Amino acid sequence: MEHLHSKTAAFHTLGCKLNFAETSTIARQLTSAGYQKVSFDEPAHVYIINTCSVTENADRECKFHVKRAMKANPDGLVVILGCYAQLKPEEISAITGVDLVLGAKEKFNILSYLDDLEKSESHGIIHSCEIDEADFFIGSYSIGDRTRAFLKVQDGCDYKCTYCTIPLARGISRSDTIESVVKNATEISQKGIKEIVLTGVNIGDYGKGEFGNKKHEHTFLDLISELDQVDGIERIRISSIEPNLLKNESIELVAKSKRFVPHFHIPLQSGSDDLLKKMKRRYMSGLYADRVAKIREVMPDSCIGVDVIVGFPGETEEKFLETYNFLNELPISYLHVFTYSERENTEAVEMEGVIPIPERKRRNKMLRILSEKKKMAFYQTQLGKTLPVLWEHENKNGLMFGFTENYVRVQKPFDINSVNEIEYLKLHKIQSDGTVSVLAAFENFLAKV
Ligand code: SF4
Repeated sequence: MEHLHSKTAAFHTLGCKLNFAETSTIARQLTSAGYQKVSFDEPAHVYIINTCSVTENADRECKFHVKRAMKANPDGLVVILGCYAQLKPEEISAITGVDLVLGAKEKFNILSYLDDLEKSESHGIIHSCEIDEADFFIGSYSIGDRTRAFLKVQDGCDYKCTYCTIPLARGISRSDTIESVVKNATEISQKGIKEIVLTGVNIGDYGKGEFGNKKHEHTFLDLISELDQVDGIERIRISSIEPNLLKNESIELVAKSKRFVPHFHIPLQSGSDDLLKKMKRRYMSGLYADRVAKIREVMPDSCIGVDVIVGFPGETEEKFLETYNFLNELPISYLHVFTYSERENTEAVEMEGVIPIPERKRRNKMLRILSEKKKMAFYQTQLGKTLPVLWEHENKNGLMFGFTENYVRVQKPFDINSVNEIEYLKLHKIQSDGTVSVLAAFENFLAKV
């Protein structure tokens, strides 16, 4: 097995787009230092797992992938980084097979630890930090294994939502400089990537800490105005933005832009103003409805996605129905539904009015059904329209898939010449798998004659 130890590295990412951007950047650091990237189930010299702390199964998922690594190569070194590593370093270092745990401050210095790292007998070595020390910004973007690239423009968060541990795992709100974001975006488009997804923790707060100080040098609007001028970028998608930080000017810029796509993902969390107060969210349902109305006014065909939490302490049946009815009446396109789960060191964990798990699950199911109804209704409005589709590289049983700018998932028979290409096609019919078939140019011509 000697060849195994000649510098091979495998990566696995849990969690959000930001984690994918950071893993991809760390992978580029290792490959430029001579490591060869291999898949996670292959024997490798080192396995790197980038973890998440939002999901309640963060620990179980982390343990599962450590086991996977140990199965692929029992002598392989295992390094854990990411949000869970920052929040629970001791707990992770005790997982059998783990050799190194790096906190938010050290994760980008991984190379400086690898050469002297040896397989540990019991506990992994920890290089963690107080989260306040992680007050600097490291730019990142994902490239290589997906059709679109995730571009990190902001990190951390200064908000204090009562159910959230992200500020504890990622630190204060801070941003990349506009120059550096533009440079990264240009680099990405020069590598042939047609779509960039702007990502961060609270990207609407962009500009804070841009040059290491607490105030805003620039705003999110400044950032997207600048990016809108960059030649060579086909599509830019805004990953998720807080409703109170989504200004009219940003919505209007997207409406006029040739690059920014008409797709907004806006966390709501609850339709009950009482619960929004308890969550310490920075808006009420009225502002949210106003943002949606503004988007629909200037971009009637845009896609609007919503994050919502069910089962938050104090969510009586009446308050849950307030959320349900609010969403049912809102002209939105789909929901991401999260079941509230207690997180240590959050205010919400001390709150009264705990909702039994089975009831949380029942409400989650109700909102997922509503989400499917909303999505199909939105897709229905797009049938018959000719829209640009960016095709992905996967061939799934002879079919390939892609997204329109307004996030309609479409399918067609696999054609290698269409991979990573943007094609204008007529949306035809909703298929049984919930994606939309398209009329090829020829069929489109026939349909016209
Ligand atoms: S805005 Fe709230 S929910 Fe989002 S990361 Fe910040 S504290 Fe967490």
